[in-house]
Amino acid sequence: MNPEVIAPRVDSRQAKLAGRAAEQIIADVIELGWPVGQVLGSESELLARYGVSRAVLREAIRLVEHQRVARMRRGTGGGLVIDEPDVDAVIGPAVIYLLRVEATLDEIFDTRIVLEELVAEVASQRVGEAGIAAIRETLDRESAGTISNFRLLHIQLAELTANPILELFVETFTRVANFHFNDAAALPESFDREVGRAHDSIAKAIMTNNAGLARERMRRHLRAEADFISRQPATVQHLDPAVALAGTLGDKRGEALARQIFTEIVKSGAEPGSFVGSEATLMSKHRASRAVVREATRILEYHQIAVTRRGPGGGLFVTEPDISALVDIIVIYLRRRGVTPAHLGELRTGLELAVVERAAARLRAGEHDAGAVEHALRAETEEGMALAFGHGNDFHSVLAGLTGNRALQLVHSVTMRVGWQFFTEVAADDPQVAAFSEGLAAKVGPAHEGIADALLAGDTELAVMRMRAHMAATGP
Ligand SMILES: [Zn+2]
Ligand SMILES: [Zn+2]
Repeated sequence: MNPEVIAPRVDSRQAKLAGRAAEQIIADVIELGWPVGQVLGSESELLARYGVSRAVLREAIRLVEHQRVARMRRGTGGGLVIDEPDVDAVIGPAVIYLLRVEATLDEIFDTRIVLEELVAEVASQRVGEAGIAAIRETLDRESAGTISNFRLLHIQLAELTANPILELFVETFTRVANFHFNDAAALPESFDREVGRAHDSIAKAIMTNNAGLARERMRRHLRAEADFISRQPATVQHLDPAVALAGTLGDKRGEALARQIFTEIVKSGAEPGSFVGSEATLMSKHRASRAVVREATRILEYHQIAVTRRGPGGGLFVTEPDISALVDIIVIYLRRRGVTPAHLGELRTGLELAVVERAAARLRAGEHDAGAVEHALRAETEEGMALAFGHGNDFHSVLAGLTGNRALQLVHSVTMRVGWQFFTEVAADDPQVAAFSEGLAAKVGPAHEGIADALLAGDTELAVMRMRAHMAATGP
């Protein structure tokens, strides 16, 4: 039999064109102000508008359907209807990524501390009467013992910031933390009392607009919780795919099969490049039709879990984990939620300071050599900022990698990508901004060098100080 018939057909050129068409569709939806329910166009209208073949358009539509940007409605008055991406559209793919890179509970908690200190600070500056009422009600229910979810308050505090980036990541990481430990019944009563007291004192600091105190209390509370939870016998440092993947990827047959194959990949610890199976063997092994196996394959490829190779000996192979598809999904969701440069500004400095502190600690501990930092500086001078960033070789992304915290790195990548989008959109419309940023670019190189010098000399305080000055000079 012709191997082309056995191996699923993946035309990489078509996949690339489809990706580009999907990006255009998303850009158009954002441009229109994301009117949920509106028909973007019929298939023939979209074919004309995007100038692609029917096969490419259908592939692009599957992508935007998966990202919940839009979905195809058949029949009269049908067409591509603009959809509403919700937080589940983000959390599922985030869990898949964290599973693949084997992120630990320590990394999740460390990232929560960084984010929720910022929440405490921003909420202190922004809390209004409506917000106070909701927080008080939760505190009352906690002290009366009628609330079982001690993470609710954290999510409400994040909502007080009205910052979609903080809201999304607090919700994501509190849910992920639940997958590592979800045996609230096993917790002693003293734990509940302590949590209640800590929540009271954090809320008090926020409601009296004391940002510094709120941050301090939030940090102490989460550190104590992290210590306590890590010591519980039911706690796992690494996610169990059977627990974490329940409900992700959907429940259709192809989705269920994708989940099953992914679970097997995680459990077997299969290295990138390992062979998963040919279409025929997957069909017989899982007693699935060709259509179901193809649907599962498409999902695994979409999440950059596996890739199809054609030809003799072809089939499905495990790929290297890659953050970019997940960052795309998150950025799309944040654009829908109306993220602005001001929202980004609320996170940028705090995040970069947390990154430089952690990178410095790992460099000092000898867990990394200086090579990566020097390589980033060289890439920025030789390739230019835009290309270095495109390749993930820019100074800030490299520092985020040095933290060794994949959850923190995810937040950082998202802020970098959102920032880059805002910048290119504004610079394209306004020559003054473009000129200003060119002047700024000349200062960025020396600033990065200064931070790198301090880092490599083992002077964390100086590195942090220089990063703070650099952020202040390049803010939105
Ligand atoms: Zn708490
Ligand atoms: Zn910089």
